[in-house]
Amino acid sequence: MKPLGLNEIREKYLSFFASKGHLRLPSFSLVPQNDPSVLLINAGMTPLKPYFTGAQTPPSLRITTCQKCIRTPDIERVGHTARHGTYFEMLGNFSFGDYFKAEIIPWAWEFCTEVLEMPADRLYPSVYEEDDEALAIWRDVVGIPEAKIAKLGKADNFWEHGTGPCGPCSEIYFDRGEEYGCGSPECKVGCDCDRFVEFWNLVFTQFNREADGTYTPLAKKNIDTGAGLERFACIMQGVDNLFLVDTVRSILDAVCEKAGVTYGNDPKIDIAIRVITDHARSTTMMISDGVLPSNEGRGYVLRRLLRRAARFGRLIGIRHLFLTEIAAIVIEQNQDAYPALVDKRSYIMTVIRKEEEAFLRTLEQGTEILNGYISEAKAQGLATLTGEQIFRLHDTYGFPLDLTREIAEDEGLSIDEAGFQTQMKLQKDSARAAAKAKHGTAWGGKELPEELLKDTTATDFVGYTTCDSRADLLYLLKEDEEGALQLISEAFAGDTVVAIFDRSPFYATSGGQMTDVGNALEDGFHARVTTVDKDAAGKYLHTMNILSGVLHTGDSIALHVNPSHRLSTARNHTTTHILQKALRDTLGDHVEQSGSLVSENRLRFDFTHFQPMTEEEIKTVEDTVNSIILRDLPVSTRTMKVDEARKLGAMALFGEKYGETVRVITVGDEAAPYSLEFCGGTHLTHTSQACQFRILSETGVASGIRRIEGVTGEAAYEIVKSKDAQIEAICAALKTTEDQLVRKIRSMQSEIKALEKELSGFKEQESAGLAAKLFADAKNFGSVSVVVAAINVPDADALRTTADQIRDRMTDGVVLLSAAADDKLMFVAMATPSAISKGIHSGNIVREAAKAAGGGGGGRPDMAQAGGKDVSRQADALAAAESVIRTQLGA
Ligand code: ATP
Ligand code: MG
Repeated sequence: MKPLGLNEIREKYLSFFASKGHLRLPSFSLVPQNDPSVLLINAGMTPLKPYFTGAQTPPSLRITTCQKCIRTPDIERVGHTARHGTYFEMLGNFSFGDYFKAEIIPWAWEFCTEVLEMPADRLYPSVYEEDDEALAIWRDVVGIPEAKIAKLGKADNFWEHGTGPCGPCSEIYFDRGEEYGCGSPECKVGCDCDRFVEFWNLVFTQFNREADGTYTPLAKKNIDTGAGLERFACIMQGVDNLFLVDTVRSILDAVCEKAGVTYGNDPKIDIAIRVITDHARSTTMMISDGVLPSNEGRGYVLRRLLRRAARFGRLIGIRHLFLTEIAAIVIEQNQDAYPALVDKRSYIMTVIRKEEEAFLRTLEQGTEILNGYISEAKAQGLATLTGEQIFRLHDTYGFPLDLTREIAEDEGLSIDEAGFQTQMKLQKDSARAAAKAKHGTAWGGKELPEELLKDTTATDFVGYTTCDSRADLLYLLKEDEEGALQLISEAFAGDTVVAIFDRSPFYATSGGQMTDVGNALEDGFHARVTTVDKDAAGKYLHTMNILSGVLHTGDSIALHVNPSHRLSTARNHTTTHILQKALRDTLGDHVEQSGSLVSENRLRFDFTHFQPMTEEEIKTVEDTVNSIILRDLPVSTRTMKVDEARKLGAMALFGEKYGETVRVITVGDEAAPYSLEFCGGTHLTHTSQACQFRILSETGVASGIRRIEGVTGEAAYEIVKSKDAQIEAICAALKTTEDQLVRKIRSMQSEIKALEKELSGFKEQESAGLAAKLFADAKNFGSVSVVVAAINVPDADALRTTADQIRDRMTDGVVLLSAAADDKLMFVAMATPSAISKGIHSGNIVREAAKAAGGGGGGRPDMAQAGGKDVSRQADALAAAESVIRTQLGA
């Protein structure tokens, strides 16, 4: 057995199966397309499911791939076993109703023993215990003694997933030797230790599992095999575990160098090194396929892996940011097989750096909060942190549970993990309920009739070149009373129907561009087309309101797209392309489109960027877009092979699956374009048709994603006009002209200031006058002068000021004032020291006054305030106050 590099093994496998008539396809993205059943691709067969179920026709009945895979369920095993990664590559070959067991078993054997020259005596197959057919092929055709063939039960060797296609499998194991075993006398193929490594699984899909639990044989039997590329490499390189195969080893070495540790000295440290190595691979590959860190779904998987890597880094003594440096090695080791890694390099680095920085901040913040919980617990003499506390740390602050446990243990405390799990479950249940409530249905919220779905011909779209076309009406649908769509043969004025023609000039909502609208006309017949959607087969569904006449299936109708609506939409679409380029030029290459919406009225563009744009950046982008519009660059459309388009550097949507040929929109000279994008939309022919671009807003929509909304053409002109009108109205109101406007406002401002100053002088005088008058009218209870009065002031401040001024005039006195404002009464009382020495207490005076008016309050002997609710009882309140004063003075 000659040692082989990982890249060599991949090549040998793919070319071996190509020599057996298989079509070689590149790896699919880790992000599943149109498959909500999995978060991330976890096996070679997953992206091929539509071929297995018959929903789509495969380009060949035999396919072979090397597929990037992520398996998060294996996360706890990573680093602990020798053979699991969250990321790995799966080699596979697939037969869609073509060859079966009799071919694949000998081929697998041939590949292992002849191509890779593995020693036959160390290979052990397993079969499903009831699969005599596979057993016979291994024994009689390949020639393996039956004693060496493990017969395993359903749990190990039968592949099924609910109802649907399923079948037995046969696995191939490599015996690494007794020294790797667990030592148990029971140790044999199928044992979970590291002696017998399963490296290839051959699945024979030959049954259909029915709802009643029975199995019926499939007419077309399939083959689906999967082999871990890293596991092959382990065997071929004679290394102990997948982290030591050539390409992975370089990553592991970089981790060791960063941490200043040596691999193989301390089992605990080794686990951390392997975890970091693995997570660096999975995260780099996920980001390059368009996943961004977030708090749900794929984004959460990515966040968790990145944070886990950072966390293990700290465990082995790395104190600074380091993940991008490891990712650089991952890219280097994989760039030949996955060239997109090179294009996305700076983007990948930015995403990792931002997340790692955020995590370090989280750690600081979380540690602080945790320390708070710890001292709280200790102060209360508790030995355990509660489930709620650790859940809050985890959920709100993203603080890892294992870290909480560790820090708590260091402080001699335990944590209530059961309580934590209860909280987790509560949260999951409510998330599930929310997801259920949100679950949508098919087109427009409605299922199409079965009969229509069977016809998978697409509508011929002629709208790229024309806005008008004749078309034959193939199907007509209308909602019945229950709201379900039913096929009908004729429709009348007043009906709203969905019409499907053989061809259409109408653009159907797709790729972020909204529907065209227009008219359908024929002698005596007129309908307005309000929306057009596309079904999965590419049939255009025209929603129309019939204004007059009758419509029959089979009719030939003239379809007219509203050209000004089309043009407005095109303005926004072409401008979106220019905007994307301007954003990249201004902000950097990390800008990737993450969503867009182009309608007649406006455009919306979502993109990756990690902080809000500055005013200046927004201005620069707006100016750049407008300068491109004014340069009147040509806009052209070409269709070409997808590889050619990529070679030209056309911008594609992240993770989007494109067909063989693609449509490419060029803004500018085709030889030296300003922007080049994959796009199926309708566009301008010259940039100047957009007229003008205005950014309306720049906001954040999710972590790392910004949104720009803007307008062009008429809408931009409308904005300018309405601003003009506003300015005109302002000028008219201020009786000035536009060029004098600012000066006028400045002079008004200083005038207002001067007036305010004058006014406050008057107010002071007025309240001083009022105070003097009230003082002059004071009653005398012995030597104490007493003022009890209602006055007319706007607020508590003015009330206090007046009371102050009265008290200041007194040598020996007490004053109580009341005022009404906002349907409430205010009271304030003040007294001089000598009045206090005679028994006066302001607090008690206001309390009684307020009580008499249905309120409350109180305060110190020298000064107090209170409020009353019943304005009509102001006089009673004053009387009550006076009587308290009398009592206090013993008068
Ligand atoms: P295991 O029992 O070792 O976890 P499996 O039964 O989960 O393997 P399959 O689902 O049959 O594996 O996947 C096919 C092949 O993919 C396996 O034979 C193995 O070579 C490889 N493989 C599966 N999981 C991993 C993993 N986490 N890391 C690396 N390779 C893997
Ligand atoms: Mg597994």
